[in-house]
Amino acid sequence: MGKATVATAQLSSCVGCHVSLLDLHERLLDLVEDAIDIKYCYVLVDQKEIPEEVDVALIEGSIRNEEDLEVAEELREAAEVVVAVGTCACFGGVHGLANLFDREELLKWVYEESHSTDDEGETPSEIVPELFERVRPLGEVIDVDYTVPGCPPKPDAIAEVVTAILEDREPELPRTNLCEECPREKENKPIEELKLRTGQGKPDPDKCLLEQGYPCMGPATVAGCGAACPSRGLPCRGCNGPTREAADQGAAFLDAIASVSFEADVDVEELLDDLVDLPGRLYMFSMAASLLKGRRDVIGGGR
Ligand code: SF4
Ligand code: SF4
Ligand code: SF4
Repeated sequence: MGKATVATAQLSSCVGCHVSLLDLHERLLDLVEDAIDIKYCYVLVDQKEIPEEVDVALIEGSIRNEEDLEVAEELREAAEVVVAVGTCACFGGVHGLANLFDREELLKWVYEESHSTDDEGETPSEIVPELFERVRPLGEVIDVDYTVPGCPPKPDAIAEVVTAILEDREPELPRTNLCEECPREKENKPIEELKLRTGQGKPDPDKCLLEQGYPCMGPATVAGCGAACPSRGLPCRGCNGPTREAADQGAAFLDAIASVSFEADVDVEELLDDLVDLPGRLYMFSMAASLLKGRRDVIGGGR
């Protein structure tokens, strides 16, 4: 059997997922030598046109504008298998928080009102692709065969999915939540106080951050990063997105807070009052894929 042909593309995103692919280093060279033929990948191959047929398409980024949609649809048409790579593609990513604003409001701010724009600023209406009303995950506009969450995803996870496709098997990616791979000790201890500001004490180095009151998204976030942040003393912000079973990452986190604080008879509403920027905290990476899709009238927040 010949090599599998591969195309990669960047939609609205930061290129970090492509950097993660490059971070495979020698293993990427091994794949290129033995198993894959990269036909289209702007960080590796000087090819301007999307090929008409490829075996695998790796797509980074979310659907923010007309061009994103065209590229996504073209690649879906061309590829046997489509993989959404990274949290932007899987769940909308950080810029999904833009869904808290109207499109016109955003354009006015960016091109006319922001501190870096002079008084003459005007919204471009030609050449640039049309901005959609809201950010959407890739799976909302085309069929996606596999997802590799992470912001950015681990190079190992990208390699596992590509290798699994080549070997015609299901990829082995984590399905549990982050707490399952976190080395911190959990005691099922109730939260007494939420610690949201700096200077509110130093966390115990061994115990669960959430049980100490630090807003760690671990219970609402899919594993895969080795609990990178809690292992270094920082609460997880949820960049891997929700587990496959959770319909909504923010709701899953509220559920976790409610269950941890229940025994102490703490007023959950009071706890939530302490949560400044509730949408940003609950949905920093998954607003576009949330059940509310960023509806400000329901969730509140905004500039
Ligand atoms: Fe960048 Fe993260 Fe989006 Fe990847 S998932 S493109 S690293 S913001
Ligand atoms: Fe670790 Fe955070 Fe889960 Fe606690 S809540 S076990 S600190 S990931
Ligand atoms: Fe992302 Fe949370 Fe892992 Fe940190 S611990 S890398 S925020 S998923």
